[in-house]
Amino acid sequence: MNELDNHTFRLAVAQFDQAAEQMKLDPNLRERLTLPERSLIVSVPVRMDDGTVKVFTGYRVKHDSSRGPSKGGIRYHPDVNLGEVAALAMWMTWKCALAGLPYGGAKGGVQVAPEQLSRGELQRLTRRYAAEIFPLIGPDKDVPAPDVGTDAQVMAWIMDTYSQQMGFAVPGVVTGKPLSIGGSLGREEATGRGVVDVTLEAMQHLGMDVRGATVAVQGFGNVGSHTARIMQEAGAKVIAVSDKTGGLYNPKGLDIPDLLTRYRSAGRQSLCDIKMGEAVTNEELLGLDCTVLVPAALSEQITQHNAAKVRCRILAEGANGPTTLEADRILIANGVFIIPDILANSGGVIVSYFEWVQDVQRFFWKEQDIRDRLHEIITEAFHRTLQFATTRQVSMRMAALMSGIDKVAQAHLARGLYP
Ligand code: GLU
Repeated sequence: MNELDNHTFRLAVAQFDQAAEQMKLDPNLRERLTLPERSLIVSVPVRMDDGTVKVFTGYRVKHDSSRGPSKGGIRYHPDVNLGEVAALAMWMTWKCALAGLPYGGAKGGVQVAPEQLSRGELQRLTRRYAAEIFPLIGPDKDVPAPDVGTDAQVMAWIMDTYSQQMGFAVPGVVTGKPLSIGGSLGREEATGRGVVDVTLEAMQHLGMDVRGATVAVQGFGNVGSHTARIMQEAGAKVIAVSDKTGGLYNPKGLDIPDLLTRYRSAGRQSLCDIKMGEAVTNEELLGLDCTVLVPAALSEQITQHNAAKVRCRILAEGANGPTTLEADRILIANGVFIIPDILANSGGVIVSYFEWVQDVQRFFWKEQDIRDRLHEIITEAFHRTLQFATTRQVSMRMAALMSGIDKVAQAHLARGLYP
């Protein structure tokens, strides 16, 4: 479909086609599953602080809801477009199915650089966007969450805007909220904790010890910063981290808690301005000699142009779609063990599921219960995927996609085609 055409969407479709071919997916399902169920484009007029009105473009795409309400984050980034949102929505469908969550996939976004807005402008943009996508969202319909450029505060404004329309508090309309309005303990760090859980399983599978392991993390937002911190707590040495301005490198290991404190107090602006270790570029970071490389920034970072330079043993994909299909082939040929995005970063949506369950039941869990249940679900998904990859002789990425797609296909076949 023309209006969806974009490089990220083409990557998601190419992955799907490869998996569909391998699993001999029913041809009657194929076209539908490469397309979103419903896509909404909205105009978001915002009164700026200087009194002028600026109009931003927003999206909400539901890829599939055959297995339950659709689920997926909202991204605020200048490059957001319909094709990218549709690709991310499709990945959410496979991710939720792979983890066994009763959800379909969705994604939303607004084409905006949030760091250039004042807090007031950000709030007005968020509330108007929420009002525009109101017909689609709801605890039983579609449940947004944070993604690149959004956080718990943005979720709180969406929850409030939705609740104002309904006339009562509806905490289950979004996840990743502040604790005070029905957020869950452990949600903020959940994606990073899940990345670490599956990385440790992969290390054990490969007969490696976490002590002495070195880790490089691209991206120091929610996913990257928690992954780096928890990897260090687990005993690994985090030798490099980066944000969009560049990175820091110390072969003896960076002190992540100290770095985080300094980064936060500098307003999360620029990692490069912090005096710690040597400076590296994002491109150099991807080529560092390390045990584990965690791309935790944007999509298509590892491509046919730089994949041969990647020198890690394990690639744990914290971001969505960080590796192209051409790069996959090069990495596999070079013996890199890939933990694919829809498995590696599923800790976020797994704990989002816990948050939603707690909200709809009005019954809240202890943090240790959340960590234990996350660990149980994500490590089971890891071993199931590994088993599938081994017995079917396919890559970890294909195994994860094929398992996810199969669950969705079964739901479609069981429900039948309406009308
Ligand atoms: N944005 C996150 C993701 O890509 C979380 C989605 C959610 O919790 O619904 O998986």
